[in-house]
Order: sequence, then structure tokens, then C-alpha cells
Amino acid sequence: MNSNPKIISDILDLKRKKGALILAHNYQIPQIQDIADFVGDSLELAKTSKAIDNELVIVCGVKFMAETAKILSPQKRILLPAPLAGCPLADTITAGDVLSLKKKYPDAWVVSYVNTSAEIKALSDVCCTSSNAVTVVKNVPTDKVIFIPDKNLGWWVKKNVLGKSVITWDGFCYVHEQFSLNELKKSRKTFPDAEILVHPECKKEILEASDHVLSTSGMLRRVKESTATKFIIGTEEGLIYKLQKENPGKEFYSLGCAKTCVNMKQTTLNELYLSLKNEVHEINLDAKIIEKATFALERMVQYV
Ligand code: SF4
Repeated sequence: MNSNPKIISDILDLKRKKGALILAHNYQIPQIQDIADFVGDSLELAKTSKAIDNELVIVCGVKFMAETAKILSPQKRILLPAPLAGCPLADTITAGDVLSLKKKYPDAWVVSYVNTSAEIKALSDVCCTSSNAVTVVKNVPTDKVIFIPDKNLGWWVKKNVLGKSVITWDGFCYVHEQFSLNELKKSRKTFPDAEILVHPECKKEILEASDHVLSTSGMLRRVKESTATKFIIGTEEGLIYKLQKENPGKEFYSLGCAKTCVNMKQTTLNELYLSLKNEVHEINLDAKIIEKATFALERMVQYV
């Protein structure tokens, strides 16, 4: 979708001249997805920024994603073109909240979803993603776990990890919280041969009534592997663009009306151009926070 060829060629020129790499989250607008070198989920973006040689990385997404990239690549310059793009889910928990939970449950490990600030990661024993949360909680060496911050993903973890006590936080994603059971039932009736794929940040009744509970990367994989040709997608609408692009023979419908994350849509071609041109909105984190958060993030691989 090349809606503005001049700004696109200007961004590509700047990118070449500066040796920069553009990363975009799966929920970004189509123009940003099209110009990016790599489009993926938050952990894939951070891993990609670590794996490549470029010293300048532009993360088109929200703040915690750019922070995660910085944690894994502290020596690189990480820019967030839309500096005010936060994540209301990540903002539901503060460092003070985590310290109080740790005090209340001293024998529990803190397992934090990657959708948290660098400060929260630094206070965590281990991080997880929506695709490996169940496995991480199953495998950590404690019987009690404080799972933060998403209550719906926490409920999914509790349901799938038997024999452990899982204390959840009351955070939620306002985008995924909007999917309703009524919408799901209507979609099932309208497209009886379609598979219903939903993100674990959706409410529990949606998770229970769906065909598959998957992360965004899990949905991309499932669609490729499945023999079904129609899919109902229960996540932020930006993913449908990527699904259509990668699977031209298949049909995708949003579960009910399309749900949009306004924070994710703050990155426009103009914001990207200005950030790259002026090298502004760089992510800077305290070295101690980076050290502790790296430990929690890297520890995740031991438990998957
Ligand atoms: S979709 Fe939800 S979890 Fe993702 S950035 Fe937006 S508010 Fe945060």
C-alpha cells in the first residue's frame, strides 16, 4: 500500500545512508508494515534487533517493545518514532505493585509477560510471551507464581497449569477486552466452516469458545498449516493485513467489528521519516535496569 511514494523513497534513502533497520509490530498500519525490514511480534522484534549488525534500529510499535529491543541490544541506538505510544496493559502495574506482591508472596516467582516496562522486567524472576506463558509457568522451580500483568492470559495459564498456585494481576488489554461472546457466536453462525483463532488477552469466555488460542505469530503459523480457507481473527485488526499478504488464497474476518489499538496506530510514515532523519526519540535505560531485565528475559529460554 504505497500511499505516498515521495515519503517512502525518502525513508528508504535515509535508511540506506544511515545503515538503519526498520522493525514493525504485526499491529502497525499497512504502510509501516510494507516499508519495514521485518514485521513480527514484540519478542521477534527484539531478537531481530539483536541478531543484525545495524547499529541504528527503528522500532515501529509501542514503548515496551522498543525497550525490550534496547535491553537485548544495549550497545545499539533504538528509536521509537511515536514517543508517546505506550501500552495501557503494561501501564496497569507499577514497580511499587510488584514489590508489594513480592512481599506478600515471598516464596513465589514473578513471571512477567513481555508486555511490561523495563522496570517491571527488572523486578521479575523470568519473562514470558503469550505463546510460551503456560510452558514457562509449568517449568519454573516454584509451586507458587505471581503472573503479571494480564488477567486473561493469567486465567489461561491457570487453566493449563495444574498443581501450581498462580496469583494474577488485574491488568487487561482494552483492545482484546472488547471481543464479545455474542460476536463470536454470530461469526460462528455466519461462517460455520471457518476456524476461530483468538489471542489469549481476550476474555476467558472467548478463549473457551474459540477453536485455537494463539499468539500473533502462532496465528500466522496456524493459518499456513491449516487446510481451512476461512478464518475469524480475534486480535488487533493490523494482523489481518499480514495474514492476507502471506495467504492470498485464504479469507480473513475480524471477530465482530475490527478492534483497533490507537497506541499502535500512532506511528505514521511521517513520524517514521522524522525520527529517522533527526535521529530522535531514542530509548535510554538505566544500566542496572538493563542488567536485571536481561537476566529475566534470557532466563525465559531455560523454561521453554
Ligand atoms: S494491543 Fe493491547 S497489549 Fe498491544 S499495545 Fe495495544 S493496548 Fe497494549
